[in-house]
Amino acid sequence: MIILSGGTGTPKLLSGMREVLPEEEITVVVNTAEDMWVSGNLVCPDVDTVLYLFAGSIDPEKWWGVRNDTFATNDALQSAGQSEIMRIGDRDRATHILRSDMIRGGRSLTGAIRELTRRLKIRATILPMTDCAVATRIETQEGEMHFQEFWLTHRGEPEVLGLRIEGIENATPSDAVLSALENDDRVVIGPSNPITSIGPILEVRGMRKILREKEVVAISPIIGSAPVSGPAGKLMHACGYDVSSEGVLECYRDIPDVFVIDREDVDIGSVVGRGGGTGEVGGVQIVRADTMMTSPEKSVALSRVIVSAFEEL
Ligand code: GDP
Repeated sequence: MIILSGGTGTPKLLSGMREVLPEEEITVVVNTAEDMWVSGNLVCPDVDTVLYLFAGSIDPEKWWGVRNDTFATNDALQSAGQSEIMRIGDRDRATHILRSDMIRGGRSLTGAIRELTRRLKIRATILPMTDCAVATRIETQEGEMHFQEFWLTHRGEPEVLGLRIEGIENATPSDAVLSALENDDRVVIGPSNPITSIGPILEVRGMRKILREKEVVAISPIIGSAPVSGPAGKLMHACGYDVSSEGVLECYRDIPDVFVIDREDVDIGSVVGRGGGTGEVGGVQIVRADTMMTSPEKSVALSRVIVSAFEEL
């Protein structure tokens, strides 16, 4: 099974999916448009969250960084007058250093992540969506800025006027992503930000066309008129989408065969019946489930819903 992921909602799902499927059967294609060089090292927030999840070292409160990490290097840099855009933990930084060394030595990002997963004894396959440099830039009333600058430095507060993914027009999927997609017909679009996490993956050259041919189950990150967390609502609105599960489905257009929305979500199209039931909207089967992954058991239960949805396709 191939799972498209950002760095919070889908990793929560992955924590359940690895209990339901053998880990070797899971391939995660991860957004890289939030990556950024910081103090000489390439930080890949979404890829690293997925890495740490499978390595068993993720901080499950924040969904980024390593559990119980220390911050001595960050503090020392700060005292030396170099304040970093993000508070990077020491063990987390070790990952960044290793990866950046490999890249400076000529490896691709995909190759570096493959080596890191090997060293961390991870059996799942973790694939950056592309090896090409891409960056989500947010256009705000205070000017255009990198996504991290918008979210971390400005705490997501400026009014958003638009968004562009720098470099996406030349971004191609890696051979590893293409071959994973050739060998597996089941694709999950995880409950991640449809604009900044899933959006860039779908915009990598040829991805929409490939995914249209696959069996695709997507899970909505929106319940009612708000995301579970993060800036998805603000960004969807700025990009002209309704902030609702229906708006998410519009972002994914003709890709999903099944769309899982929360059992407490508002009706979508003509699909009614809070609390359960299924229906169809424009050829997409709608499945209602408890999508709020507030415990490991709930992540497992949602994973089982997804696996059965594939069985019924
Ligand atoms: P980012 O890379 O850190 O922005 O993380 P993602 O894009 O992977 O995840 C952010 C999205 O996950 C947000 O739009 C949230 O609404 C969604 N999300 C987080 N937790 C849950 C959950 O338990 N259930 C659902 N359905 N969505 C969630």
